[in-house]
Amino acid sequence: VTGAQASGIIEPAGQGYQDARAPIDRRVDDLLKRMTLEEKVGQMTQIRLGKLRGNCEWNPGPLREDCMKAVLEDAKVGSILSGGGDAPTPNTPRAWAEMTNAIQKYSLDHSRLRIPLIYGADGVHGHSNVLSATMFPHQIGLGATWHPELMEQLGASTGRAMRATGVFWNFAPVSDIARDTRWGRYYETYSEDPVLAGALAAANVRGQQGDPTDGTARLTATAKHFAGYSEPFNGHDRAPAQLPIRYLQDTVLPAFQPQFDAGVGTVMINSGAVNGVPAHASKYLLTTQLRDRMGFRGVAITDWEDIRFLVDRYHVAANYEEAVAMAVNAGVDMAMEPSDAAGFTAGLLAGVRGGAIPGKRIDQAVRRILKLKFELGLFEKPFVDVAKADAIVNGADRELARQAAAESTVLLRNDGVLPLSTGVGKLVVTGDSADSAARQLGGWTVGWQGVPASSPMPPTVTVLQGIKAAVPSANVVSAASQADAVAQAGDADAVVVVLGEDPGAEGESDTEEPALTAAQQGLVDAVRATGKPVVVVLLTGRPQVLGTVADAPALVAGWLPGSEGGSAIADVLFGAVNPSGKLPVSWPKTVGDQPFSYDQVRGANTSPSSAYDPAFAFGHGLSYTTFTTSAPTLKSAEVRRDDQVKVSVTVANTGARDGTLVVPVYVHQPVSKVLTAPQRLVGFTRVALKAGEQRAVEVTFDVQRLAVTAGDMDGSGKPEVARGGYEVVVGDGRARFTVR
Ligand code: BGC
Repeated sequence: VTGAQASGIIEPAGQGYQDARAPIDRRVDDLLKRMTLEEKVGQMTQIRLGKLRGNCEWNPGPLREDCMKAVLEDAKVGSILSGGGDAPTPNTPRAWAEMTNAIQKYSLDHSRLRIPLIYGADGVHGHSNVLSATMFPHQIGLGATWHPELMEQLGASTGRAMRATGVFWNFAPVSDIARDTRWGRYYETYSEDPVLAGALAAANVRGQQGDPTDGTARLTATAKHFAGYSEPFNGHDRAPAQLPIRYLQDTVLPAFQPQFDAGVGTVMINSGAVNGVPAHASKYLLTTQLRDRMGFRGVAITDWEDIRFLVDRYHVAANYEEAVAMAVNAGVDMAMEPSDAAGFTAGLLAGVRGGAIPGKRIDQAVRRILKLKFELGLFEKPFVDVAKADAIVNGADRELARQAAAESTVLLRNDGVLPLSTGVGKLVVTGDSADSAARQLGGWTVGWQGVPASSPMPPTVTVLQGIKAAVPSANVVSAASQADAVAQAGDADAVVVVLGEDPGAEGESDTEEPALTAAQQGLVDAVRATGKPVVVVLLTGRPQVLGTVADAPALVAGWLPGSEGGSAIADVLFGAVNPSGKLPVSWPKTVGDQPFSYDQVRGANTSPSSAYDPAFAFGHGLSYTTFTTSAPTLKSAEVRRDDQVKVSVTVANTGARDGTLVVPVYVHQPVSKVLTAPQRLVGFTRVALKAGEQRAVEVTFDVQRLAVTAGDMDGSGKPEVARGGYEVVVGDGRARFTVR
């Protein structure tokens, strides 16, 4: 192994790698030279919090010297994680900061070269493991905002909160695209479309990370799960996926590219297998695509226990040592082992000593990890200020959470019932998610599967509470059963039915029936039969098949809206906010519509059953005002492949209320050698317009966005932009252009 000769001495502060003013690459080189092989493999290891406390296994409890010694001193582990729900007791920001500081101190005191540790956790909708943190909407709701600047603000808020507690690494955002509502992690994605998902994810990354070059580094974000995770067979989490290379290159991978361009620090690998090869063993994915073609330069970490899975789930390796070599040689830099520090480091050492893993590969991985730690300023400031943690995290950015939830809300149908009058006399609020904080917050909240029954509830405004606060003088009654709701409706002005789903995560949240239940539909049918105006609010992590609810007079999708969800829904119901959310996914009509997306290619059969026929289309969303959009005009009708296309349209608010309009820009390719979608999203903008206001807006996209993998039947080769004619499509208008 190159540079494995330990010098045996630590540089005094201010010299060698300890010199904070020296360029980071030089500091990395200097440190790497001093490290032993054991120290290097320790850096490549991430272990879960449970191994440092309690009984050195799962049990919570205080940190224990002997547990910490085994992991941090003996195995020299360089990173610790909290999986969903792994928190200190009490679960306060201060206790988090004390805990991460204590682990950091032990680690530094027992590291010959004083290499700081990096702590990671899943802050997937705010610092969501922490009881008092503000929970933002889950990603699927945020997808409906089409609002990258907002994603940046949410990212910055999450970054501040996590960093204040000593968590410098966030395993978010998810860049997988949403295509199968049966899949339990659908709600963790932004969109079915790679352009929308990629733009939102990249903005979130920028917000979380700040700018390492100007000293505002907050933490490192993670692009996950690379790649092809979201379309497991039959929607079963972690089932192998069959994804033609063409689809992988043209649709799946492009959702990640904007994050790599934005400098995301880490990538987490897909726990599934793609085309017969587990992603963790795929040099094609982890090196050829990730590094060589897409230009990612940070740290690639495994998902939970995935090297072991190569042996005992996938059976592609005969034993653990072989699996370690397979994964590291494919491109894994760090293993979220996460339970057996000694076992993993022994496997890695054996791999290097036996020649299965080149020493150069170890150095490359460790270099990336050290660089990340230097960039985050961990060598200079390994500890956080315990006294500030509570003030930074508790109740932070509630207004931002409310704005995000309101902008997430999609008005699917409205026969004039909405907005409800603030002068309403009696209002009945009913349904399983009307007053349930746990359902509204969803999975990955305090606990992995959602708020555990044993935990207090994070401070949350439910829809019932939000409505009561919005119309304090109205008689708002809560009806717990269908019979009660029908009886109460008799002398009411309107009925609001709030329906949701049980919180959950990963495989536990998979479903064969992504549809409203018979009981939910029955409740809506029954209150509609009273003849009163009925508003149905859906708080679900996926577009559930609606059944009889599809034609409810007013239908609102609020997704999983987080801490301020109830206030935000009330804002929309009573018109304080004019809804602007647009579906980031296609809303299926039947459970048979899976996988589903607007960009499905057309086949030879012209029967209606083969057409794209959603309940509500991708991009759909109503407003309380009306807008018009002019036909698009192009700056130039002829472009080259390395050009950009500049599209202009004039938008106008022709109604009586202020409102915000999302303008998606699509491209249609009339003739193409390989099948392409009838429409592909290439860009979008979001514009706030006062009543009566009109404005010209511009959307620019790279011609490279039009690249598709042509070539032979096997789809081999790289994506390329075909020369020839195209059309820009905005609303009902079209403009032709040619790629020369
Ligand atoms: C999930 C990841 C998550 C990790 C750590 C895994 O089960 O697939 O998304 O980051 O756990 O909690």
